Amino acid sequence: MSTDTGHPENLMEKLVSLAKRRGFIFQSSEVYGGVGAVYDYGPLGVELKNNVREAWWTEMVHRREDVEGLDAGILMHPEVWVASGHVEGFTDPLIECRNCHRRFRADHVEGDQCPTCGVSGQFTEPRNFNLMFKTFMGPVEDSTAAVYLRPETAQGIYVNFRNVLDSSRQKVPFGIAQVGKAFRNEITPGNFTFRTREFEQMEMQFFVEPGTDEEWYHTWKERRLEWVKSLGIRADRLRLEPHGPDELAHYAKDAVDIEYLFPMGWREFEGIHNRTDFDLSRHQEHSGKKLEYVESHSGKRFIPYVIETSAGLDRTVLVVLADAYDEEEVEGESRTVLRLHPRLAPTKVAVFPLVKKEGMPEMAARIAADLRGRYTTFHDVSGSIGRRYRRQDEAGTPFCVTVDGQSIADGTVTVRDRDTLEQVRVAADGISDHLRERIEGEAGS
Ligand code: ATP
Repeated sequence: MSTDTGHPENLMEKLVSLAKRRGFIFQSSEVYGGVGAVYDYGPLGVELKNNVREAWWTEMVHRREDVEGLDAGILMHPEVWVASGHVEGFTDPLIECRNCHRRFRADHVEGDQCPTCGVSGQFTEPRNFNLMFKTFMGPVEDSTAAVYLRPETAQGIYVNFRNVLDSSRQKVPFGIAQVGKAFRNEITPGNFTFRTREFEQMEMQFFVEPGTDEEWYHTWKERRLEWVKSLGIRADRLRLEPHGPDELAHYAKDAVDIEYLFPMGWREFEGIHNRTDFDLSRHQEHSGKKLEYVESHSGKRFIPYVIETSAGLDRTVLVVLADAYDEEEVEGESRTVLRLHPRLAPTKVAVFPLVKKEGMPEMAARIAADLRGRYTTFHDVSGSIGRRYRRQDEAGTPFCVTVDGQSIADGTVTVRDRDTLEQVRVAADGISDHLRERIEGEAGS
């Protein structure tokens, strides 16, 4: 059964359960009853997340001459957040139901009926609630020691603009990219890892000469969408949704969201923004340090405009999982399969002896040991072969190599394809090359 989004029925519940069962994602501090809207990535989840991060970094930093990487601290000078506008304006409208005392983000509630207790007309007036987590630096807990956990990674890039410019050989236009944790004290988190209080962002700020900003904005918008498609995400579940003039953030001249058709509807997972010279100007003003760019050949001075590409890593992982999840009937039996792009799959290959006798376990162990240095490899010796295959289908493993009776006789093994279920026989000593062709061929890299 599928819904009008084309996803299987109750997909989110199924994802939560599969994620726990197979070791992708766990609730934080679960043995203590959990903590609100924070998640931990298990053995398969951390591989998947690393693969998405690595794919982004390769695309945005390694493949480009005009982008440099950065890893800035989570804690920054408190004045950064005054200059950026977060202290004053990074707020959501908070309302409370006077009947059940549950709190909501006003723009997440329709009408005047409480989504929890159902009572109407009992909401308090909205008040602005700042989403930044505050903590204290050093041993004294007073207001002069207050610092924030960063709510976005972008500011770490702006305050390092001069450092990167002066230490690299870059000239405008160029970009700075970073991946890292961000924290927001969300009023209404939810939908699994879609909206959490601790998450990772993958952001790139591209500094351009004013006047060339619109062209760069369009270029990055198209590139980012292409990248998401290259991860194997279905094109008909992706769309670009421009912000109308009344939705634009105070700093933005243009903004577009890349949206995915989640089980709960179309939602953003990446934004591309033309932030003008707002950020560098504000930091120049607040820090008193010149943040303008001087063009070497002409002597022309300007504060660069910034085109930002801002994606949530966790949210992108959720897109990947939701898009990969599939259920089908195979010869009268149902199977659950994660059709992950081979490049993103946590385990690239599983190796099994068909049965535990006649030299099969030893040969399978040898093959697994050989493959391990090259690909994430899972070696599984017990249980029915059908069950072992199904386990790998749920983990999204693209290939299973099985050692059977014929393997002992002629040195060949079978390679089973997760999606087509086709099995081919391949010489065991050529297995690594065979897999390379299929994994890297499909990855297109
Ligand atoms: P929203 O309006 O949904 O609160 P936003 O527009 O404030 O989000 P941005 O500040 O543009 O989001 O953040 C860029 C990206 O960071 C988002 O597209 C999303 O992928 C990710 N992100 C933002 N907030 C969260 C969160 N609470 N949990 C997980 N990812 C998040």
